[in-house]
Amino acid sequence: MSAPKKGDLSAAEKELLGVIAAGNAQEASRLLGSKDVRVNCLDEYGMTPLMHAAYKGKADICKLLLQHGADVNCNEHEHGYTALMFAGLSGKTDIAWMMLDAGAETDVVNSVGRTAAQMAAFVGQHDCVTVINNFFSRKRLDYYTKPQGLEKEPKLPSKLAGPLHKVIMSTNLNPVKLVMLVKENPLLADAEALEKCGKVMELICEKCVKQQDMNEVLAVKMHYIGCVLHKCGSFLRERQDKLDGLIRSLLKGRESDGFPVFQEKFIRECIRKFPYCDATLLQQLVRSIAPVEIGNEPTALSVLSQAITGQVGFMEVEFCTTCGEKGAEKRCSICKMVIYCNQECQKLHWFTHKKICKTLQEEREKREAESAKHVEAQAREAEEKKALEDVTSSTENLSLDQSEAGNM
Ligand SMILES: [Zn+2]
Ligand SMILES: [Zn+2]
Repeated sequence: MSAPKKGDLSAAEKELLGVIAAGNAQEASRLLGSKDVRVNCLDEYGMTPLMHAAYKGKADICKLLLQHGADVNCNEHEHGYTALMFAGLSGKTDIAWMMLDAGAETDVVNSVGRTAAQMAAFVGQHDCVTVINNFFSRKRLDYYTKPQGLEKEPKLPSKLAGPLHKVIMSTNLNPVKLVMLVKENPLLADAEALEKCGKVMELICEKCVKQQDMNEVLAVKMHYIGCVLHKCGSFLRERQDKLDGLIRSLLKGRESDGFPVFQEKFIRECIRKFPYCDATLLQQLVRSIAPVEIGNEPTALSVLSQAITGQVGFMEVEFCTTCGEKGAEKRCSICKMVIYCNQECQKLHWFTHKKICKTLQEEREKREAESAKHVEAQAREAEEKKALEDVTSSTENLSLDQSEAGNM
């Protein structure tokens, strides 16, 4: 098939655009399987199906189109809009993330010189701005794997770029998860390697602050990850129990309610150590966190996560008590009050959870008993009411009967 021309759509392609607008993923899937549909076809404005789906906020169809080879960087639109720009305009953070993950360029500008982040900001879609600004391509990291200027050696050994990029791209900022990511890669779980990575994080942070289009979100994220990496490095150097010891410290709950005090203090300390005091985002974070007593909501982690990843739309999802991954669904079988990704996460947490598991269980049972009582009481009340109604209606019938009888 020849390269798509603007407005040159087959009947099936026109149907596909209609199906996308209606959000019918099943039909879209069927049409994409047809040989009359080119996944990168262009409508009269130069919009691809992916641009349409991104603009309409249809995440499942975007995913489907990408699986079918949709070009995320297609730039045939009459005003130079890309799929990422449309995602930003729609305000759907999950779609913006999907486009970035599929390799969408962030510095492309439209016909009036605006980037996707600037367009999203212009229409007030700040969560999308956050997601876009939060993204850090592998290419930008690889810059540090090449010697610059008079350097004989690069700042980052190239074998570390992959594992470090994986940590950087984590949307879960729970320090336990980040330490787990370090731990699972033997190249990274090494004091010297971590020191190098930590320094590169500082450099990227500085660059984000000093570049013309300052990116505070990324600066804070890079600084935070740098702090976690430094912490891992110092544990590897000084402690016998290595990173497991760090994970335990981060998870250890206080006696009264199991609140992880060390974790809270560690995150607050990371934020306090951010080297650019004038940054608006830093001031915002400090204002939200400083007045909160340790142990109360919101936690420093939740404030930081929301500021950096903009994840507010994921409230309905269950998060792992240990590592903060979303979509966890294994409940503690005793208290049923905490939830984990898997047995490994549960095992890591048990040394501290076991101290409050029983209390949580009792609290839950008490609550359940109370609500059962409440339901019972309601049922009884309804029954009594019904009985009363039956009596009244039968007396009404009776009086009616009597009057009828009187008429006879
Ligand atoms: Zn977990
Ligand atoms: Zn439990």
